[in-house]
Amino acid sequence: MNRVNRVFVVLVSILWAGLLVTLTLAQEPLSTPTPIATAIPSDVTPTAIPKPPPAISLSQDGITVELFFESLKQGRAGVVRVDGPGVREVRAQVFGRIIEFFPVDGEGFYGLIAVGIEQTAREYDFEIYAVLADETRITIPARFAVSLGGFVLQEVELPPERAYLIDPLVERAEFARVASVFQNITQERLWDSGEVDWQFPLNAPLTSQFGALRVFNGTAETLHTGWDLRAETGTPIFASASGIVAFAGLMDIRGNLVIIDHGYGIFSGYAHFSQIHVVRGQEISKGQILGMSGNTGRSSGPHLHWEMNINGEWIDSVDFLQTWIPG
Ligand SMILES: [Zn+2]
Repeated sequence: MNRVNRVFVVLVSILWAGLLVTLTLAQEPLSTPTPIATAIPSDVTPTAIPKPPPAISLSQDGITVELFFESLKQGRAGVVRVDGPGVREVRAQVFGRIIEFFPVDGEGFYGLIAVGIEQTAREYDFEIYAVLADETRITIPARFAVSLGGFVLQEVELPPERAYLIDPLVERAEFARVASVFQNITQERLWDSGEVDWQFPLNAPLTSQFGALRVFNGTAETLHTGWDLRAETGTPIFASASGIVAFAGLMDIRGNLVIIDHGYGIFSGYAHFSQIHVVRGQEISKGQILGMSGNTGRSSGPHLHWEMNINGEWIDSVDFLQTWIPG
């Protein structure tokens, strides 16, 4: 082996070793202050996601059903399209919940199937109901698999003056409060139409990931319902998509919180603000400033907690931005 080749082999070995160390570190349990996912671009400049081909196509009584996924991980959402002559309304029953589909010009009806973080990984049967113009009702059975979300364990230390916020009663009360916001589903598409519909709420590194099982001060456990982004207090936070403000106010854990209703059961939430610049009921455009980031509520330092809820389930907001959504 000549000298140039030897240098090349040594360089490749060093790169491999570096990659292996990086991969190993990525599997380790996390602690809050370490940025863990800086490799994921969290740029406010959105990128258009091309429409993928359907993964599964079914047909029954002249109705076509397309699933744009083969399986869904816990905490993820998938797109379903239904079309056929004379179809007037479409809904599905998944995990015992009715999901309304929305019309898209020339393409039929689309719906989003959201899988909760704690949904058991296995195969699920579900049903699609199509109502035709002449009132004929057609039921189409379908099936998909839920796979493990691959969530990590994360230990968080809260300062003593905020330790009361790890009380399970505080947590339960707040979940009930946000759930009541998500129950009011607007049967209208409020997010923008066009090629690029969704964007990151600010351009900053992601510091803590969705779905982590969090252990607070060594005892209480909870699941992380969103992603955290690094943001000094006073950083402007932008709306991920257009919608209507469904909540703007103070909560125990989320602190100063803004929730935007994007229609058809899709909501985005922005927590721990130092200042809120919008009010409930206000119409919001994509990229509009909602408020300034901060450190209010159950927070161990200034950051933005950014979460999404679809049809009552917490969904990975970063994954959602990388999913094709009909526009
Ligand atoms: Zn968070």
